[in-house]
Amino acid sequence: MSKKYDVVVIGAGPAGYIAAIRAAQHGLKTACIDEWQNRDGKYAFGGTCLNAGCIPSKALLESSELYHRAQHEFKKHGISTGDVNMDIAGMQKRRAGIVRQLTGGIAGLFKANKVDGLVGHGKLLTDRQVEFTPVDGEPEIIDAKHVILASGSAPIELPFAKFDGVDIVDSWDALEFDAIPERMGVIGAGVIGLELGSVWARLGSKVTILEAMGDFLFMADRDVASVAGKDFKKQGLDIRLGAKVTSATVTDGVVTVAYDDAQGSQRIEVDKLVVAVGRRPYTDGLFSEDSGIATDGRGFIEVDDECRTRVKEVYAIGDCVRGPMLAHKGSEEGVMVADLIAGELAEVNYNVIPSVIYTAPEIAWVGKTEAEVQQSGRPYKTGSFPFAASGRAKAMEQTTGMVKVIAAEDDDEILGVHIVGPMAGELIGEAVLALEFSASTEDIQRTIHAHPSLSEAVHEAALAADKRALNYMNR
Ligand code: FAD
Ligand code: AMP
Repeated sequence: MSKKYDVVVIGAGPAGYIAAIRAAQHGLKTACIDEWQNRDGKYAFGGTCLNAGCIPSKALLESSELYHRAQHEFKKHGISTGDVNMDIAGMQKRRAGIVRQLTGGIAGLFKANKVDGLVGHGKLLTDRQVEFTPVDGEPEIIDAKHVILASGSAPIELPFAKFDGVDIVDSWDALEFDAIPERMGVIGAGVIGLELGSVWARLGSKVTILEAMGDFLFMADRDVASVAGKDFKKQGLDIRLGAKVTSATVTDGVVTVAYDDAQGSQRIEVDKLVVAVGRRPYTDGLFSEDSGIATDGRGFIEVDDECRTRVKEVYAIGDCVRGPMLAHKGSEEGVMVADLIAGELAEVNYNVIPSVIYTAPEIAWVGKTEAEVQQSGRPYKTGSFPFAASGRAKAMEQTTGMVKVIAAEDDDEILGVHIVGPMAGELIGEAVLALEFSASTEDIQRTIHAHPSLSEAVHEAALAADKRALNYMNR
């Protein structure tokens, strides 16, 4: 007899594992299938985010930032250390340890919440039947009342710069280098390209980032992008805009990268080339042809606003469906779908999803950019506050950047908040809550912020929108 579940989730990344836990918390009999295998041969829950994305990248960003600060900043604080050395094996051991702990934590959460974590491949057939093939066994059929597809995404490969796992690599490989490449090339100055470029540049690599677009960080507010772009240049990151890569060839471990820019055809030589040109939805072997699941022209599973596919009681969430490829977006979709299955009202507010780039300075925003507000035609006002005027930022020796608040002229509603500077990824939390509650700048103006804290910069930017900044000259 086939196994029966109320909910079967395929994929245990941040979208799938959260959906499974929430469903089980509703008292639904739930299984979550995942086949992720790490480079050490071990299977692990957590998907891209925990194994090869958000978490390992942040671990390396922290290590490399500390190394950089020890070299360049400690002296200012009066600290002398002698020679500062980086042990890459030690750094990578820490990274792997954090990943192991967190992915093991999901297995623990599954047990605590009574989710059956099944290791192997899942495939949706017809009539909500799921074929489960364990990594070490024969396929079996599971009957599910509800199925949630959460298969995630994979790096996009360029036909003229194919991954070879050694010289031309994807972001996962670039997180696991065991030595500092002398010269590193990155194709794509998006979030992943900038974070990986920062890690290895801080450790001493000469990093060149080639970006086809002419505008730096085209999706960010222009003021924020401009501050960040200048600072990255000062740090030695060689970001070449309007540079469209056309080929990459490897000879004796040296990668020759050809690109076209406004001046004509150019080439650079690097020791490692990281291709970071975006990710594509991953749905290989996820559903049978007769399952009824449809994908769009770019391979995303088609869903409505509530993540329902065309097949009754089959949902899809996370990177394999439309919307920003972000862990927190997938997790919230997981919560929504589990709640809907349990008969509750639920929705995701797609207008209020924070974006964070964990470079130094960090970049974070939520809501509309100034250009988007301008385009909408709604009269607006802005207020900015530089970290150079923040006591806490000065004490931290991190004064680059600012907070910018954009609000409606008529009813003062906050429309967007853009931050470049220390802890921007943490500071944006207040702005996310403000937008979620449709707060006005006056709401933030009249909220007490601890002193001295970086959050005072958010307070002052909100005040500045009405020319009421208290610790900075109003313009
Ligand atoms: P995934 O995390 O990709 O998980 C999908 C899982 O499904 C995988 O484990 C896969 O093995 C499994 N699977 C797929 N098909 C099957 C099948 N048929 N059977 C069994 N198992 C299957 N996002 C952020 O929000 N913040 C960050 O700081 C951030 N940093 C990133 C850094 C890097 C280098 C990268 C690459 C990504 C980063 N992201 C970040 C993006 C984030 O990792 C993804 O948005 C997130 O992992 C998507 O979650 P998901 O659950 O949809 O898919
Ligand atoms: P993201 O989607 O945020 O990961 O960013 C990927 C970046 O790669 C985008 O900014 C693209 O413009 C850039 N890109 C894509 N193809 C090329 C190419 N052939 N040469 C240079 N940059 C590219």
